[in-house]
Amino acid sequence: GVLVLSDIEIANAAAMDRITDVGRDRLGIPEEHLVPYGHHKAKVDLRYLATLEDRPLGKLVLMTAISPTPAGEGKTTTTVGLTDALQGLGHRSMACLREPSMGPVFGMKGGAAGGGYAQVVPMTDINLHFTGDFAAIAAAHNLLSALIDNHVHHGNELEIDVRSVTWKRVIDLNDRALRDLVVGLGGIGNGYPRQDGFDIVVASELMAIFCLTESWADLKRRIGDIVVGYTRSKAPVTARDLGAHGAMTVLLRDALAPNLVQTLEHAPAFVHGGPFANIAHGCSSVVATRAALRLADYVVTEAGFGADLGAEKFVDIKCRKSGLRPDAAVVVATVRALKYHGGVDVPELATEDLDALELGMANLRRHLHNIREVYGVPCVVAVNRFPTDTDAEVARVVELCAAEGVRAFPARHFAEGGVGAEDLAKGVLELLEEPSPHEFGFTYDDDLSLTAKVEAVAARLYGAREVTWDGKARRRLERIEADGYGALPVCIAKTQYSFSTDATLRGAPSGHELHVREVRLSAGAGFVVMVCGDVMTMPGLPRRPASDHIDLADDGTILGLS
Ligand code: ADP
Ligand code: MG
Repeated sequence: GVLVLSDIEIANAAAMDRITDVGRDRLGIPEEHLVPYGHHKAKVDLRYLATLEDRPLGKLVLMTAISPTPAGEGKTTTTVGLTDALQGLGHRSMACLREPSMGPVFGMKGGAAGGGYAQVVPMTDINLHFTGDFAAIAAAHNLLSALIDNHVHHGNELEIDVRSVTWKRVIDLNDRALRDLVVGLGGIGNGYPRQDGFDIVVASELMAIFCLTESWADLKRRIGDIVVGYTRSKAPVTARDLGAHGAMTVLLRDALAPNLVQTLEHAPAFVHGGPFANIAHGCSSVVATRAALRLADYVVTEAGFGADLGAEKFVDIKCRKSGLRPDAAVVVATVRALKYHGGVDVPELATEDLDALELGMANLRRHLHNIREVYGVPCVVAVNRFPTDTDAEVARVVELCAAEGVRAFPARHFAEGGVGAEDLAKGVLELLEEPSPHEFGFTYDDDLSLTAKVEAVAARLYGAREVTWDGKARRRLERIEADGYGALPVCIAKTQYSFSTDATLRGAPSGHELHVREVRLSAGAGFVVMVCGDVMTMPGLPRRPASDHIDLADDGTILGLS
């Protein structure tokens, strides 16, 4: 049989260029403006990036997807493959990706550096401690937590109602035992006991702030705006009230510079920031995206989950806040996911089934409609080929997309590297040349009420009939509007597997109800989170976690990361 190498075997065998060479040769960054972390990772000095402000921006391509199956459909992999293909065609291209969280690395999903011959390297570094950004974010987050309890301990001058504190503590691991706990036990010397808990770092509001901010000054202002809880008379208490924002920003000073790495084909990639795609906006940092657009002619960036979640937040939060605009979108679809949405269960996804595929097209069709008609972004489909796909199935996807007026390109970058995505790259270049029949737009305007914003997303994108509210969520919402946060965009947290809040409703369900269970203010990040259904901010580990297979060989080689 054919010997198939695992992602980590391919990555470990990669011959990397020195990162200073990648920066200089591929992007024209003088060596003194790169801050190397070892030989294959570097931060790009923010003061250098500030000098590029007058440069024209390259084209921005948004990588999004069909509603995924539990394995993921290949957005990261296709982002890398397309970047390599564009470079192979002679263009100055660059990828912008999120930093992986160690929760999924040791838990279920594995890392997030792409797959096969479309990966960013050094893969093990990127998936583990990398350049320490997450550690810096955790430290800054936990400093604020410590300052809250310290303030209460030393007399609670602000009269913080400790029962209303929403700012938890964070760690970058999946650990369900930390979800709910009591801190401050042990007597007078240890402060006042109160209920607390841990979230994973990627769920921290600070991670969202980090990814939406523009500069050190903006970062400090946003951190100051974080609402940590309320006083006994129900006034919001901010990080600024606690005098925490300066020190927190200091901890994030170096982390805010984007991290440069390379693909297996030596194309440059920024891997920077990694917010959750449900309770945050799921996109890598604005600082990296903007820098990439000044350094390269084509920038490919991924938004988390399907186009109803990541792409919606990319448009309605990241673009609205930053002024960035995508020039085109690539929608990753797989034969597997289409069959899944047509009713086929995971174990049978390897069997040819053209009827199910056609039924499952309903899901992709709605995403294509949303991207083109609601966000107003022109798009093509990338059919990310898996070994079990039949030629007839792939041909049918292309046909079905053509019937929607969308070009679809089968792509084999996972098996072949950039060459395998050459047709896709040509299709994207062609799309970028054509005048767009669409006009970029948001799903809702700023001046709508928070309720009307949720209703707009539910009706326009999800096909929902109505939005309903838990009594407690409704009261929180009224409080948030009364406190003056009503003009913020909304960030809807729901399952990625369905347009509805029921993960088992595949395809394109209509007439369902969107129930808002909980409302959370992220005043520093600048959005209001609407929690619909169960959303984990501290995941647990599965019975057989990925860590079972991860090991260190005697010669120092890292094994088993996926
Ligand atoms: P996403 O970013 O959409 O979550 P990823 O790009 O991380 O998806 O891919 C999810 C998983 O699927 C990874 O383990 C990756 O190696 C694997 N994968 C992606 N594309 C292919 C393919 N064409 N064939 C086989 N495995 C693939
Ligand atoms: Mg991904």
